Amino acid sequence: MYFVNLVYLYFGLTALLVFVLLFGDSPAFQRTPVSYVKWLVTEAWLLALERVVETMFGERGLRMLDSATECCCESSNPMLQIAYLSIVSVGYGLTWQFVFKLLPNAYAAEYHIYTGTAAVCGAVGLFLWASMSDPGRLTPESAALYLAAYPPDGLLFPPKHCSTCDLMRPGRSKHCNACGSCIIRFDHHCGWLNNCIGLNNSRHFLAFLFGNLLLCCYACWAAAAATAGSLQQRGFFDVYVYDPVLKDRVALYTRPAWFLEWVLVYYPIQVALAMFSAVTALLLLAFLLYQSYLISVGRTTYETLKRNQLLKEAAAAAAAGSEEGPPAAQGAGAQASEQQQEQQHGSSVAAGRSSSRSSKGVPAAAAAAAAAAADFSSQHNGGAGSAAVGWRNQLCGWRRPQQQQQQQQQQQQHVNYYDRGFRGNWAEVLWPEAFVEQYRQQLAAAAAGANHSTNHDVQQEQHTKHE
Ligand SMILES: [Zn+2]
Ligand SMILES: [Zn+2]
Repeated sequence: MYFVNLVYLYFGLTALLVFVLLFGDSPAFQRTPVSYVKWLVTEAWLLALERVVETMFGERGLRMLDSATECCCESSNPMLQIAYLSIVSVGYGLTWQFVFKLLPNAYAAEYHIYTGTAAVCGAVGLFLWASMSDPGRLTPESAALYLAAYPPDGLLFPPKHCSTCDLMRPGRSKHCNACGSCIIRFDHHCGWLNNCIGLNNSRHFLAFLFGNLLLCCYACWAAAAATAGSLQQRGFFDVYVYDPVLKDRVALYTRPAWFLEWVLVYYPIQVALAMFSAVTALLLLAFLLYQSYLISVGRTTYETLKRNQLLKEAAAAAAAGSEEGPPAAQGAGAQASEQQQEQQHGSSVAAGRSSSRSSKGVPAAAAAAAAAAADFSSQHNGGAGSAAVGWRNQLCGWRRPQQQQQQQQQQQQHVNYYDRGFRGNWAEVLWPEAFVEQYRQQLAAAAAGANHSTNHDVQQEQHTKHE
């Protein structure tokens, strides 16, 4: 087997893993191999580990495992920060020793030693900047302001009092145990930065991803160019080999499989550096694109997780309902389970808001979502369930209603209580100060209005007393 096949396999598996991790929980892949693989990579091995520890060490082992995972995942610790700095230092050291030594040559000039060093400093600088940035912690002073900016939606974020911070928690926020406070517009707790990503530092996080993506691309190019220059100096591009298939001699560099075998013997570190940078760049690019997509549709990573969970529960509730329900209701139930995946977020937000089911938590909200989705689909299908849909499909041809359904789904898909439109969502992330300022002014105006009216009342009272 040629080494180049291993390279293809490596890239393919990495791309597959990224895809599964990002979209495994998505409703579109429910009960497909994608969701199964995601479960396998994220949960199944942990369950298996627990089982093994339990059989080997009993209760005591389980408790130790619990405290170990809590220490690693749920408390603030610099392990991954140290790992990041180690990877960058080792990478830079190897580049210094094996790539910069080949400069200058026909493909890369000497100044790349300095620009390369500057790029590493810049990436590490962005890392430190993002690590030390303030994600936006909820304080007694800022609580009212953020409640105005992010009112609880009653579905993903029911009105809730955080007992640890002793504050009313705004929507889109979550208490992070590792950081020890409620984070506004909580996205996720980033282990690499050992910091939460919230309203105030999402831009720092994007800059960190982008800077390190550029660094990886640059490192990959530099390793490849330096190696190519060195190959040329050695007269490699004049090497010809005999191709048994063509029965003729061909230039070695036109055969990637043989070429890579050959290069690997003379430049193993350079090849390893280029490949590692390329794969890391792919990972960073995938993550950056995913983050950009989420910002564009006005959703955080945490909201996506919660939303997927809610959709699963609603689908399960609808399925259970349709099994138990009378035949007439079954059609609507089945329709609901198809449509709700996209629709219920929007329609049930309204349902959740209009009724006061906030204290019942997520399962109640899921039931509400299922009910709202069923209502929605029955309204849009004339309430007659599958029979009417079947007749309509026969009359109109099945394509048109399906297209209409898809259109409706697309319209409903992006209904999000916190979606401020493409530009608004980006403005909120890139300039959170300006975004928050408008609510500060609103609150100030409301307070001034209230003051004015109370003063007016007092004056009136004094006036009446005087009379
Ligand atoms: Zn809190
Ligand atoms: Zn955190």
